[in-house]
Amino acid sequence: MASAGRTGVGTNQEDVRRHNLGTALGQVHRAGRISRAELTARMGLNRSTIAGLVAELESLGLADQVKPSGTRVGAGRPSVDVKARTGAYVLAVDLRVDGLTVARVGLGGVVQARATGPVPADHDPHATGDYVVDLMKLVVKDVEPRAALVGVGVGVPGIVRAEDGLVRLAPNLGWRDVPFAQILADRIGTAAMPVLGNDADLGALAEHLRGAGVGVQDLVYLSGEVGVGAGVIVAGRKLDGAGGYAGEIGHMPFVPDGKLCHCGARGCWETEIGAPAIALAIGCPPERIGALGEFLEGVHEATPELRAVGRHLGRGLAGAVNLLNPRVVVLGGYLRSLFPLVHEDVDSELAVHALTAPREQVLVTLPGLGGDSVLHGAAELAFEPLLADPVGRLTAACHDVEASLLAG
Ligand SMILES: [Zn+2]
Repeated sequence: MASAGRTGVGTNQEDVRRHNLGTALGQVHRAGRISRAELTARMGLNRSTIAGLVAELESLGLADQVKPSGTRVGAGRPSVDVKARTGAYVLAVDLRVDGLTVARVGLGGVVQARATGPVPADHDPHATGDYVVDLMKLVVKDVEPRAALVGVGVGVPGIVRAEDGLVRLAPNLGWRDVPFAQILADRIGTAAMPVLGNDADLGALAEHLRGAGVGVQDLVYLSGEVGVGAGVIVAGRKLDGAGGYAGEIGHMPFVPDGKLCHCGARGCWETEIGAPAIALAIGCPPERIGALGEFLEGVHEATPELRAVGRHLGRGLAGAVNLLNPRVVVLGGYLRSLFPLVHEDVDSELAVHALTAPREQVLVTLPGLGGDSVLHGAAELAFEPLLADPVGRLTAACHDVEASLLAG
């Protein structure tokens, strides 16, 4: 196990123990339920150390030891299972151009409660903050007494500065340099300091941990909302770029002198595969563009216009495949509803434009988490501080009193 940077005698040992506690909790969180024997094997520590860590997780209200499920074959002492408990939860927010979902999510990625609602028509950041808090109040209503709110994660359709949750640019919300983390913190307090992430990055994270990309180290999650973005995982790690802004694949130059994009440039990829282009191709009226996914679900055969969108999708994907050599490409947002209608067109363009070697390795697929990838990713982001240091985070967390204030 890695130790922290401090090297003082005693301090270092304490750091290692805290680190191991977080690692053990991370294993339980990912699996939801894991046998103690498996936990011991994965962490490479001895049995008594693991027993001590599990006992501490139990006393913190984060895990339970339970009888193993199923029957065991063979001799030897049966192991016990370690199961995530409900002593800590996060609030996850999926902020979209056309609506809002808030969920209370427990360890193990269990959605305990959820609420959906609209966003202000003009996307005013302060009013949006109020709308988010209204939904938060709904989902914490019946929270278990003494459960601790350990984080708030928010997925935003834009470029986010990770350090302070400043939304640098969310063109489809009309936001530029909006301190949305602070706007939320002003309403819910800093004990649950909100962390923001780009929606596609969070979709990629969630699909990697719990969805179509479990066990896959190289993955691209393509989010189709009003705009198009990508979350990229390379060798198991998120691709950030120099400032954390990598993945803005929707603004890849695509058509010389093409249509004007929200970002100010012409001919970006999303002008050909974004929601307005699809709406036009299927005759969805502009005022219903927020329900494009539903509209697509009602389409049974692709029109020539929609097939053209499919070819644009495939050609752009070929670029991503050639550049990144992903094992899996997950199509999220409304692309989830589009892909089944145009997959032949996507495949034919991939066949022409992607190089054979990386094309043979890639699977283009739908999200394992359905429409909840971004929501789960926001929850994972919010859990990160707890998994890094369970004792420290729980000490600083927002316990029931604050939660009831939030509910008030
Ligand atoms: Zn653009």
